[in-house]
Amino acid sequence: MDQEKKIGPERRHARRQRDREIIDFFANANIGMHWVSPDGMILWANPYELEMLGYQKEEFVGHLITEFHSDKHLIHSILEQLTNNERIENCEMDMLAKDGSRKYVTVSCNAFWDNDRFVHARFFIRDITLQKTAEETIKRKEEELRSITDTVPALMAFIDLDQRYRFNNDAYRKWFDEPPQDIYGKHVREVIGEKSYADIRPHLERALRGEQTAYETEVILSNGEKKILSGVYTPRFNKTGKIEGVVSIVSDITSHKEAELKVHESEQRFHTMADTAPVMIWTARPDQQRDYFNKSWLRFTGKPLEQEIGWGWVEGIHSEDRERVLKIYSDSFQQRKPFRMEYRLQRHDAQYHWMISQGVPRFTVDGKFIGYIGSVIDIQDRKEFEEKISFLAEASSVLFASLDYEATLQNLADLMIPLFADWCTVTLFESGKMTTTAVAHKDPDKITWAKEIEKRYPPDPYSPHGLANIMRTGRSELYTNISDHLLRQASRDEEHYRLIKELGLTSVMLVPLKTQGKVLGAITFIRSESQQQYTPQDLVFAEELARNAAIAVENAQLYQKMRESDSAKTQFLSMLAHELRNPMAPILSSLDLLQFQSQENTELHDTVRVMLRQVKQMSRLLDDLLDVSRIIHGKIHLTKKEVDLNTVIAYAIETTRPIKEEYQHTLSVSLPSRPIQINADPDRLEQIIINLLNNAYKYTEPKGTVWLTVTEQNKEAVIRVKDTGIGIAHHMLPRIFDLFSQVDHTLSRSRGGMGIGLTLVKNLTEMHGGTIAVESAGLGKGTEFIVRLPIIPLTPQPQGNFGFYSASDHTPPAVHRTTHRILVIDDNHDAADALGRLLQRLGHEVKIAYDGPSGIEVARAYLPGVILLDIGLPEMNGYEVARRLRQESALGHTMLVAVSGYGQEEDKLRSQEAGFDYHFTKPIGIDVLNEILV
Ligand code: ADP
Repeated sequence: MDQEKKIGPERRHARRQRDREIIDFFANANIGMHWVSPDGMILWANPYELEMLGYQKEEFVGHLITEFHSDKHLIHSILEQLTNNERIENCEMDMLAKDGSRKYVTVSCNAFWDNDRFVHARFFIRDITLQKTAEETIKRKEEELRSITDTVPALMAFIDLDQRYRFNNDAYRKWFDEPPQDIYGKHVREVIGEKSYADIRPHLERALRGEQTAYETEVILSNGEKKILSGVYTPRFNKTGKIEGVVSIVSDITSHKEAELKVHESEQRFHTMADTAPVMIWTARPDQQRDYFNKSWLRFTGKPLEQEIGWGWVEGIHSEDRERVLKIYSDSFQQRKPFRMEYRLQRHDAQYHWMISQGVPRFTVDGKFIGYIGSVIDIQDRKEFEEKISFLAEASSVLFASLDYEATLQNLADLMIPLFADWCTVTLFESGKMTTTAVAHKDPDKITWAKEIEKRYPPDPYSPHGLANIMRTGRSELYTNISDHLLRQASRDEEHYRLIKELGLTSVMLVPLKTQGKVLGAITFIRSESQQQYTPQDLVFAEELARNAAIAVENAQLYQKMRESDSAKTQFLSMLAHELRNPMAPILSSLDLLQFQSQENTELHDTVRVMLRQVKQMSRLLDDLLDVSRIIHGKIHLTKKEVDLNTVIAYAIETTRPIKEEYQHTLSVSLPSRPIQINADPDRLEQIIINLLNNAYKYTEPKGTVWLTVTEQNKEAVIRVKDTGIGIAHHMLPRIFDLFSQVDHTLSRSRGGMGIGLTLVKNLTEMHGGTIAVESAGLGKGTEFIVRLPIIPLTPQPQGNFGFYSASDHTPPAVHRTTHRILVIDDNHDAADALGRLLQRLGHEVKIAYDGPSGIEVARAYLPGVILLDIGLPEMNGYEVARRLRQESALGHTMLVAVSGYGQEEDKLRSQEAGFDYHFTKPIGIDVLNEILV
């Protein structure tokens, strides 16, 4: 103030002016200012600060500064420092605004001294709240970023244009053993080292020029560890499009690379292994395309790998198999299932081979599908073997299908063409002779031609080679190639050579037909036009075939021999039966006579009756025996006509009545009320029923019951003959109809019979288009035979006027009324005499002759009405005699009756031709005589 007094008005004015300016400056400065007294009271504040904090002047000025600071301690310490004449520059602190918010400020202050008196402190306050919050946001964001990037197992960084790190995630700490904040701002080279920097530098520089780059590099860490890194640099541009730096992401792919390397190595190992494997191996990717074939495959197909991979391999599959193969292949892929299939694959020589192909899906440890691996095996040999086996089986079935071995061998030879031979011949050896039994070739003309050649040049049994050699040694011969030299050796002369040459033989196999060391013949297999060659395997196969063929030939030969001896046997049987019949004729005639004469003598009459029955039984057996041999030789002919089954059955019942009575059986008959018409031979039909009834009676204990039932079912007549007899064991049932089959029990033996009745019944039934069945619940449980015959009403066959004894025709025996003049001609004196006596007893006039010529003589003179003429006469047989008799006009109406041991159809026919009116088989009984001599 004193000083003021001393200054003049201008100066005062100037000073005031200056003060105003200063005040104005403070008032308008955009920086907060306030003066604080040494005890902390706010003395003054400029408008900017008041506005900044939101206070009215009186709410701020006059208050203690500590009220507006949260850190009271700090403000005290500042005042203290100011007291000590220290300056405070840019001290960061906060101030409390009126609205309760906090303002971040920087405070610079100094003390105003007046002569060592601390007058007040001047505070200059800069509001840095905005800056502070922005910084905090950035910091928070950075922390967020860091917390995210720290979890990433990769090195993440931002590198600025000067190649300095401006951000690093925590991974850098682990790798470079330095906290990220220390790395911040450092040059890349400094952090990663000179060598690594040299590696990545070109990439980094390229990225810093604005290009995204990726690289892989190997680095050695400070601890000496080697790492393989994969890096990506992505340039970052600012809003104006100017490049600011690059985001770098570097990941450690060491383990991945190692695994890859391992896979690669194992794949290499696998390929080396697969290449040495004998099987063909391939692998396919998940998209089904093949990516590998081993050497075996490539060797087989003869194609380079590039041609096979992808889908190239499909080309080699046979067109007929391709579609199927692809379907199985892709279906398996879709279902990730293993597959196995067979197909034909083309080999390098263009031939197709059968293959077995198998494939399995491949998965990684964690279950990822990575494609298929498969193997392929050539099974051509096996297939051919299988084919041969089935061919052999077929050939065997041909071989054993028939016992006619010549036809069989021809069939066999035919079967070989063309699969196994172009020519096939079968030659049989017998007593040093060779006979070609079969020749086969696809062209019949060639067969004729070959046969002609053979006729001109028959096989030479003394030749050192070929068939002659096989006949001697029994060993096969294989000529893979037919050389000219061989042809010359085989040919007899120039012409023969020329002819064989013309055949164009390429390969020949000769194999013996051998059984138990005996060489029966040989089969020759020839390849000509097909140009193929036989191999040793073919020979093995041919030998196997020949072995089977030899057995078949031997079987057939044995069978033929057996048949010959069999037929000798049946011939003998039929002869025997025939011869036995002759002596029976006179016995029967004599018995008939005796029966006639013994009517008064009951005892004798009964004896004769028994004898008669036995003789008749015998003659029936003989008839059966003859019938069987006829059946065996297919010589039975039926004379069918429309017959009423009921009538036939009535006769059969009548015929068998004696046996029924002998055993005191009860017969229960049930027949349909209306006639059943059947197209049948009435005699044979009766024979069927007689046999069944006889058996039923025979094989039932006396006083049993037999049922005979006839019904009609589905256009069939069903005849059932059932008994309460001894029954038939189950195991015997299927064999009961076999010839000479008898159940081995005492009863069947004691009841006589030869086991031929049922054979006859069955054959006769079948000849009538019918069937027969037998049923029995077992021994002691009775038996039932069921015959079924078709009911087919046919127009009756015209009946010839040649009458013969037949069941449907015959009438029950009756005593004759007419007396006939009868001539008996028979060389068997006994038979002739006995018949003569019987006829006389029946009231006829009889003359007898013992041979043909004398018979004719007698006939001429005697002029008989009936001539009973034996066929089997010596010198002039019965047929001849008949013919001559028929030539005699006086004998034109004489009834000629043939009495023969032979009763077959052809015998009857011959009789008819010779002029006979009747034909009877011996022995001729009283019933028959009564019938014709009415
Ligand atoms: P056989 O002349 O022996 O009677 P068959 O051929 O008529 O010849 O019969 C063959 C065998 O069948 C007989 O020996 C007998 O054992 C048996 N057999 C046939 N019919 C009957 C039946 N009704 N009951 C029991 N066994 C029978």
